[in-house]
Order: sequence, then C-alpha cells, then structure tokens
Amino acid sequence: MEQNLLIYNSLTRRKEVFRPLHPPFVGMYVCGPTVYGDAHLGHARPAITFDIVFRYLRHLGYKVRYVRNITDVGHLEHDADEGEDKIAKKARLEQLEPMEVAQYYTNRYHDAMAALNVLPPSIEPHATGHIIEQIELVREILDNGYAYVSNGSVYFDVEKYNHDHHYGILSGRNLDDIINNSRELAGTDEKHNQADFALWKKAQPEHIMRWPSPWSDGFPGWHCECTAMGRKYLGSHFDIHGGGMDLIFPHHECEIAQAVASQGDEMVHYWIHNNMITINGQKMGKSLGNFITLPEFFTGTHEKLERAYSPMTIRFFILQAHYRSTVDFSNEALQAAEKGLERLLDAYQTLQTIAANLSAYGAASAQPVTMDYVQDLRQKCYDAMNDDFATPNVISLLFDAARVINSVADRKMAISSEVLKALTDVFDLFAFDLLGLKKANSSGNSGDNSAREEAFGHVVDMLLEQRMKAKAAKDWATSDLIRDRLAELGFEVKDTKDGFTWKLNKQ
Ligand SMILES: [Zn+2]
Repeated sequence: MEQNLLIYNSLTRRKEVFRPLHPPFVGMYVCGPTVYGDAHLGHARPAITFDIVFRYLRHLGYKVRYVRNITDVGHLEHDADEGEDKIAKKARLEQLEPMEVAQYYTNRYHDAMAALNVLPPSIEPHATGHIIEQIELVREILDNGYAYVSNGSVYFDVEKYNHDHHYGILSGRNLDDIINNSRELAGTDEKHNQADFALWKKAQPEHIMRWPSPWSDGFPGWHCECTAMGRKYLGSHFDIHGGGMDLIFPHHECEIAQAVASQGDEMVHYWIHNNMITINGQKMGKSLGNFITLPEFFTGTHEKLERAYSPMTIRFFILQAHYRSTVDFSNEALQAAEKGLERLLDAYQTLQTIAANLSAYGAASAQPVTMDYVQDLRQKCYDAMNDDFATPNVISLLFDAARVINSVADRKMAISSEVLKALTDVFDLFAFDLLGLKKANSSGNSGDNSAREEAFGHVVDMLLEQRMKAKAAKDWATSDLIRDRLAELGFEVKDTKDGFTWKLNKQ
C-alpha cells in the first residue's frame, strides 16, 4: 500500500489520490449485465477494466469487497420508463420462464468471463432477490418528499430534488437541457415532469414479473437496484462505483439522486467509468443491433469476423487501450493484438528456455542486462498502474523487456541467473497476476511445457500428419474431417508450405 495510486474520478473530473474510507477495506460496486442475451464485446470492457482495478487493489494489500450485480428485472426497452421488460420480452418470445432466461444467460456470462480470465466478484446480487430493499429505498425517498405516487407507480421528483440539490452533478447536464432532450413517450402523462424517472412501476395486466408493494403490484425502476444493493453490501458510504460511460446518464445520475434523496448525502467516493467499444465509429450496443457476442468472437461465427479470436486476444486487445479511451473494433486491430500477445508470451517462453540452459547464453564480451534495468522496469510498471491504471504503458514496457530478452536469446546481451529471476518476476506480476493474461496460448511449438500438454500436442501432430497423408492421397473427405473435428475442439490449423501449424484457441 506504499504505492500512491491516482484514480480519475468522473464526479470531480480529475485524477485524485486513492484514499479508502476504511483501510485496509475497499468497497467496489460495478453495474453488471442485464441477462437477456449473450454478452458482447462492449460487456467485456467494463468486466476487464474493473478486473484490473480489483486485481491491483488486492495486490496493493487492500481487502476488496467487489459487488457486481445481475440485472434480471426492471430494465425496460429503450432504457426509458416505458416499453417491455427486456427479460420478460425474451421469455415471452421464447416461451420460457423469465428466470429461465436470466439463469441461462447468467451461466453463459460466467463462462465468457471465466474464458477472459475475469475474476468472479465477491458478491453477485440479483435485482429480483432484493425487491424488499428496493421498496424500502422508494419508501425513504417518498418520506423525504422527493417522489410522488401516480396511478400506482412512484416517480422521482427531479425538479424538487434539483431545487435542493444538483441533478446533473455527474453528467454535467442541467435540468433544462434534460427536459428539452427527453423524448415524450406514450403513457408518460403519469409523470409531473418529463425528466422524472420511475422508482416503482405498476404492472400492466399482461406483465408477468410483478411483486406486491404499498403502491401496486409491480416492479422496481431500473436505477433502484444498484442504490439498494450497493448500500446493503457496502454500506451507506463506499469507495468505488464503476460502469461503462454510457451508464453515466441516466443510470448513475439517478443513482446519485436516489442516494441523496434517501439518506441525505452521496454514497460513492470515486466514480470510475470505462469508455465504449465502437464499431465503424458507433458505440457497439445490444440496443443498436451492431454488436458481436463473445461466443461469436471465440468461435469466429459472425459475418464481420474473418476468423476466431481467443479470449486472451480479446483481453489483450482491450488492455492495449487505456480504459478511458475509445476502442474501435476491426479484424486488423484484433490480429495486431494477437501478434502482440504472442510476442510477449514468446518472450516469456524464451526466458524459461534461457533459464534452463543459462551457461549457453552470454558470451563474456556481451553487454549484461543489469539489475538496475530490471528494478527500473518494475518501478515504471508500477508508475503506469498508479497513474489511473495505464495498462497500455505497462504493455509497452513489457514489449521493451521482450526486446531485451530476445537480445539475450541472440547472445547479443548476457544475463545472470539473479537478474533473470528478477525479470521473470516482473513478467509474472504484471503480465499474468495484474493484467490477467494467461501463460499458455498452447500451440504445437511453444506454450506451456508441462509433460501432459506436450503429450497431447504430439497426439494433435499425429492426427495432422495423417491429414497430410490423406491430402497427398487426394482423400479430401478424411482431410476435411480431421480439420473440422479439430476446429470443433478449438484447434486452429493452418497449412504452410512446409506442412502445418496449429494452436489451441481455448484457454
Ligand atoms: Zn447499475
């Protein structure tokens, strides 16, 4: 914890020294997925961004309670207060129980996160499991005079709130602009003001997800869950609240208003927001219909994908940009990320090779890699992480180190076992523990050297040699069968002029 960590706080719009409210404890809440479809690349970004924050804070010695919710009710279409519940709609279309839809996509989300090496949060609360807490929140806001009941629904009185406090403090919007820009949708006449938002919605007769409340049988407004669950698990004041920038307005602005209106002051100390992933310059989003899901990336089954990309390539691609910059998706960018990742993993592998046979490296005349260099590298990596989690800088420092390692491999530089161990430690800490990359991108030639993997590798080589024989005999059916079956198992086979190469894209 001796490191001085700077975090960009979206609320104050500047970098601030991170000082937890109750060290060594840190509370962090991050808005999780609405589980009505597969997670797409846009969902991978907050998950990976806050995984880095989680890993780094833990590394610094903090005891982090990381809460990431599952939204399984209340998130209506168009992110507004009208329209059908996203999960209920999916359930109706597929003739499933809403909870069946939520469970199915929650499981798929967990699988995708595990593939991306995103650590699970400490608590993963569901909105439907916290209806009582949300009703309590609505009651407090009503009691304090910042909400009103209208036809069985409860709305937040934004004008009244803004008179006493500041609605727009996070997004920088002012109320007049918000009113002028809000869309008048059918049924909003229940609201006193267009800018008001729902805290509780009375369910229409056909609405299947409903709970009893003092006001009507209905369901909570989307913004309630995070305020209610954040407070329940992290207390009425906690350190970090995170999410994508697209959530700043209205979701997080409404969360702040709900907190202040219910308990009198703001709950969150540092607001952290990751930027968006764009596709042809436009935000990638489910509601925009221009998204590519994570399973599609992993299998290469989407018309915009030239081929499959491993979860580690996706992770590396995202970490190559600072979390507050936009990232534009393209096949070229992903392929560049894949090459970059391979370069780093190869350098790490080379370190092992050098270590195993150190005496063969480093002629007496070669310039030595000094301990000062490694210590400087280590400190610069820390400096980058401390500067608002600057992962691209960490990566470029590791690339520099990879060049040094390759110079040793080429016998242009020499290295002692002590320096080599220190350099390996820097890789282990920053590339693997903190950036969360995985060591083995198993392939026939490199990757993890364990005896088991090597044996499995030989089996794949054997199969591919049979395929070469089949090809030579123009037995295309057998040749294609072997390739296709291997592809189903996650092996990517490439024909080369000397034969073949393969790698396993599953992590
Ligand atoms: Zn939220």
